[in-house]
Amino acid sequence: MDMELKQRQFNCAMELYTRKGIYRLSGRLVSTVNVSLQIYLLYQIILIPIGAAWQVVAIVIAYIVTDFVNGLVHMYMDNNDRYDSIAGPFIANFHLHHKKPMYRTNPLLLVYFNETGSKVWLIGYLLVVSLLLGASEPNPVAMHILVYVGILSSVAEVSHYLCHTSNSPVAIFLARIGLLLPKRHHARHHMSDNNSYAFLNGFTDSLINLLAMKLYKGYKNTTDRHFALYSGEGSDNR
Ligand SMILES: [Zn+2]
Ligand SMILES: [Zn+2]
Repeated sequence: MDMELKQRQFNCAMELYTRKGIYRLSGRLVSTVNVSLQIYLLYQIILIPIGAAWQVVAIVIAYIVTDFVNGLVHMYMDNNDRYDSIAGPFIANFHLHHKKPMYRTNPLLLVYFNETGSKVWLIGYLLVVSLLLGASEPNPVAMHILVYVGILSSVAEVSHYLCHTSNSPVAIFLARIGLLLPKRHHARHHMSDNNSYAFLNGFTDSLINLLAMKLYKGYKNTTDRHFALYSGEGSDNR
C-alpha cells in the first residue's frame, strides 16, 4: 500500500538524517554561507544611498515579495514526499514541524542562524544577487529590494518561531501592526488543510491559497500521515 511505503520511506529518511552527521553538518554549512552572503550584501548596499522615501518603498515591496516567495517554498515542501531522493532526509525532517509544531526555545540570533540552515535555495538566490550587484550600474532601488528579500527570508523563520513560542508583548504588537506573523492567522495552517503557507507576516496568503488549491491536494491526508509511525529523535521537539 502506498501509505505504508511512504511511512517506511519517511522513517528511513529520518534515520539517515539523525544518524549521518553529514546532514546536520550541511545544515550548518548552509546557514554559514547564507548568513555570510547576507552580511556581505547588506554591507554593499549600505554604500549605495537611495534616500529615506525609497528605503520605505524598498522595504514594503521586499516584505510582500518575501512573504510570497517563502510561502511558495513552504507550500512546495509541505506537499513533497520524495523521501527516497537525495534531499529526502531534509524533506522528512521539515515535515516534523507539523507533527509537533513546537520549537526548542533559543536566543533569536541562534534561531535566525539555525533555521536559515534549511534554506538551500537561498544560497542560489543570494549568489545571483551578488552577481547582479557586481554588474555595471544596477538599479539601486531594485538592488535594495533584492537584498532585503534575501535577509527577510531568514527573518521569516524567526517570525514563525515567535508565532509558536513567544507571548512577548513586543512580538504580539509587531504581529498586530503587520510586521510579524499573527498567531491566529498561522493557526489555520496547522488546524486546516492546504492553507496559510505564508510565514513572514501572512499578507500574501490569499494569493498562495488560490495557487495551493489549484496545484496540491494538501498535507492532512498525505505528508502529515507519513510520520504517523515515527517516534525517533525530533518527533517530540525540534
Ligand atoms: Zn507547513
Ligand atoms: Zn507553524
